[in-house]
Amino acid sequence: AVVEEVLPRRSTLIRRQTMKPQVLCANLDLAVLVLSTEPNFSEGMVDRVLVSAHAQSLDVVLVLNKADLVPRGSEARHRVERRLFVYEKIGYKVLFVSALEGEGLEDLRSLLGGRTSILVGNSGVGKSCLLNKLGQGQIEVTVGDISEKLKLGRHITTTTTMHRLPGEGPPAFLIDSPGARRFSIWDVKPEELKEHFIEFIPFARHCKFSDCRHLQEPGCMVKQAVEEGDVPPERYMSYQRIYQVLLEGTEGSFRSALWTESEHAEKRK
Ligand code: GDP
Ligand code: ZN
Repeated sequence: AVVEEVLPRRSTLIRRQTMKPQVLCANLDLAVLVLSTEPNFSEGMVDRVLVSAHAQSLDVVLVLNKADLVPRGSEARHRVERRLFVYEKIGYKVLFVSALEGEGLEDLRSLLGGRTSILVGNSGVGKSCLLNKLGQGQIEVTVGDISEKLKLGRHITTTTTMHRLPGEGPPAFLIDSPGARRFSIWDVKPEELKEHFIEFIPFARHCKFSDCRHLQEPGCMVKQAVEEGDVPPERYMSYQRIYQVLLEGTEGSFRSALWTESEHAEKRK
């Protein structure tokens, strides 16, 4: 499943069902990446989603759902905090929530206000539960050609729903599209990948070669930043891996790489 393209800022969706066209939402501008420890997430999947979202000018918020399974102060909580701190450090927003017990839901709700967001994440992490909780039972469902309008991908047709979340303030829209729950990065060329590792950018400017891929080139400031602890080594390794896959890969083999990786993570827990 692919979010292939983001509509230009000014376009809007019109609801078909009513006689008078009604503006439903402005543009997709946020990807809510839902993660959990059971099933466990993999950094490889997170990094791919971040690349894909950035390539499409979507903001991302990382939401660790099922926080109730990793109680504050526990070793398991520390472990997942350390893993997610890597992303926080480079500028991504990270929220701990529990659809089950309510932790963090208000923070998430306020983050979604005034925006149109799409839910992504592996199955079983609790996306449907979250949506139900956020909707407080007042969800308005719109099915139809949203996916076509938003260009969510070739394979997504009728299952895409858009939910207007209840609450004060600017309206929040949340798009749930089973097909879009897994991002992929077909449309990123290997040589473009480096632009989507956002923490590389300030260092990349000072590389000796302006077209530095940050691999074996001499005078690479990104590699130096890794050595000096200014770029997380995990992210740099992830960059090298994804670069290699993009270089070798066709869509098909890349898709299977993505699936295998997240399935591994699910088994690992
Ligand atoms: P989806 O596939 O991402 O839509 O996941 P679901 O919403 O169907 O949830 C998968 C499972 O996780 C269900 O058994 C839920 O009850 C459980 N679940 C969802 N949210 C939470 C949570 O916050 N805490 C716990 N402990 N379980 C949750
Ligand atoms: Zn470089």
